[in-house]
Amino acid sequence: MLTGKIAVVTGASRGIGKEIALTLAQKGATVIVNYNGSATKAEETVEQIKEAGGKGEAVQCNVSDFDKSAEFMAYVIKQYGRVDILVNNAGITRDNLLMKMSEEDFDAVLNTNLKGAFNCIKHISRQMLKQKSGRIINVSSVSGVMGNAGQANYCASKAGLIGLTKSVARELASRGITSNAVAPGFIDTEMTQVLPEAVKAAATEQIPMKHFGSTKDIANTVAFLASDEAGYITGQVICIDGGMAM
Ligand code: NAP
Repeated sequence: MLTGKIAVVTGASRGIGKEIALTLAQKGATVIVNYNGSATKAEETVEQIKEAGGKGEAVQCNVSDFDKSAEFMAYVIKQYGRVDILVNNAGITRDNLLMKMSEEDFDAVLNTNLKGAFNCIKHISRQMLKQKSGRIINVSSVSGVMGNAGQANYCASKAGLIGLTKSVARELASRGITSNAVAPGFIDTEMTQVLPEAVKAAATEQIPMKHFGSTKDIANTVAFLASDEAGYITGQVICIDGGMAM
């Protein structure tokens, strides 16, 4: 259980982040539901948390912005006094073949997916060091493990997240703070619903289990990594992908 814990989940207005927020709240954590543009959806996530008897609050922040992320974390610490769990889930795609990929699309993906996680970890690390405890969980991707044609920016950001996860694990382990990554395979969310049917069929062929995963598959593993029971696990990357990246 996560009773009494304070959790921040970035990009929790929909998809995987929303499911993580609902699951952590169901296990007793107070969840700060971060979003960038989808205020209504973030409020809906909070409503669902409250309807199920949990506690939560929606907070807008573009995590790719260094100063805004600092303000966001300072606000959470002021309101709640501590942060036990940080889930860096916010992510975007701007897919294209390398030859056609614009500098803008490369930068946008790196800034949200990788720098966003750096920003949030940096601005919460002092508080976690003071607490001598904390759980940092970064949502990477099998694309960061395997690479993927048409996703040079996305794969670079997700591979970068793995390096960030392990470096943070090494720096903070002695202070009771763990840092781990989950690497989802193909999960049924808005991000994958926009893929052409032929791409989805080809992707399914690569998955030994022959079907996409659910947001719940990811949320359950994140909840475990956030728990006291996972206290001796740090610097790890757990693929949740139906066997795709083994
Ligand atoms: P999604 O449905 O597109 O949701 C993305 C979330 O990220 C939204 O809540 C969005 O908030 C938020 N977000 C985007 N940019 C942000 C920013 N700058 N600041 C704060 N929040 C921001 O995506 P998803 O499929 O749930 O994916 C969630 C994570 O899992 C991502 O990191 C993704 O790369 C990773 N992942 C997904 C899959 C998959 O198959 N779906 C596979 C591997 C990894 P707004 O709506 O407010 O903009």
